[in-house]
Amino acid sequence: MQAEELKTLTIAIIGGGYAGATAALALHQTGASVTVYEQAKEIHEVGAGIGLRPAVIKLFRQLGVFEDIAAVTSPSEYFDILDAQGNLIQREQWPHLDEDGVRNNTRFIHRGDFIDVLTRLLPEGMLKLDHRAAEVVDNGDSATVRFTNGQEVTADIVVGADGIRSKVRTLFSDNQPVPANAHAYRVVIDGSDAEGLMTDDNLRLYLDAETGSMIYFLPLRHRGENGQVSFDITVPSTDTSWNPDVTKEDLLHAVRNFDERLVRIVEKLDMDKVNTRSAHDIDPVDVWNSRSVVLIGDAAHAMLHHQGQGANSAVLDGGILADCLLEQPSVAAALDTYTELRKEPTQALQRISRESWDSESAGKTAFPEKEAIDY
Ligand SMILES: Cc1cc2nc3c(=O)[nH]c(=O)nc-3n(C[C@H](O)[C@H](O)[C@H](O)COP(=O)(O)OP(=O)(O)OC[C@H]3O[C@@H](n4cnc5c(N)ncnc54)[C@H](O)[C@@H]3O)c2cc1C
Repeated sequence: MQAEELKTLTIAIIGGGYAGATAALALHQTGASVTVYEQAKEIHEVGAGIGLRPAVIKLFRQLGVFEDIAAVTSPSEYFDILDAQGNLIQREQWPHLDEDGVRNNTRFIHRGDFIDVLTRLLPEGMLKLDHRAAEVVDNGDSATVRFTNGQEVTADIVVGADGIRSKVRTLFSDNQPVPANAHAYRVVIDGSDAEGLMTDDNLRLYLDAETGSMIYFLPLRHRGENGQVSFDITVPSTDTSWNPDVTKEDLLHAVRNFDERLVRIVEKLDMDKVNTRSAHDIDPVDVWNSRSVVLIGDAAHAMLHHQGQGANSAVLDGGILADCLLEQPSVAAALDTYTELRKEPTQALQRISRESWDSESAGKTAFPEKEAIDY
């Protein structure tokens, strides 16, 4: 679209998570007038870490915010998969780390730091808190959103970035979250409590073949005096409640077969700091957009966490949506092209993430998506 047309375009983004905040940054740079409506009264993220993959780091370079991201991250070279006792099954360098002569390491970040840095980069007033979308009406060439606080907005484009339980998605699909029969327990611990296991900046996944339990050990060495570790235990469970109640004894039972140093980490955990969640994803969504409404992030393609690609995909969506508006002749063409570009790779990731891990699949490759997805 021409710069003059983009200047008159209004975009309402519903949801101020990673998808919404990155889309806001990227879409603002096209010249469009962007507002993000977030239901929460304040921005808050759970205590856990994630790895920002090379494609996301590349996008942040393009958006001119790489230094801001680098300041709150540690660069990582590879991903190790080990058995419960710490014997190496697979070590692989992060894919696409060296491309076009630029090294884009995967970078580890605390979820709280990530949302803080993204929202801090937004122009003042762009993010409106305490706006919960209750109804979205597609008017054809515009869409109207009504909020529970009584306010209403009509925009040329409404971007549904409102997560796995998306309200905006109900325009296109009645898909509901699907339980994975697994719990994820996440906590950030001080490096001094890591039993000497924090030795480098690489991700480790420990797999217990007998119980199906897994521990993701993700170092955040740039944080605090001693560095920190994001410690994530995933266990099979038939309890599908959204925020399950678990005790220290439950956790100790789940990790009973692991290296004794991992067991000692669990013994020392402050249970008040442990975030518990039942893992859910959604089935593939067929329709992602109309002429004025489009889905991004978990609203479009919530996936299980086993490939560590949910937030990464959410971030990429925003950048690619902005590129489509710059490159296509109209809003309708841009939204169609965005869907065309993003549906296949993210639905492949949904599929692969559902397969989770076992020692056989881990023995083949740490990155099954490397072959399946070209991005
Ligand atoms: C245990 C676990 C581990 C994970 N690990 C990783 C990992 O290592 N790497 C990775 O890339 N991903 C990981 N993910 C996935 C990642 O967290 C999600 O994919 C990512 O948060 C999706 O971002 P989003 O912005 O689309 O959605 P969300 O983060 O859910 O944000 C949606 C936002 O919309 C707001 N909202 C919702 N409804 C409304 C409404 N009606 N009106 C206004 N606002 C609304 C919400 O308050 C929220 O702020 C993990 C997920 C889990 C559960």
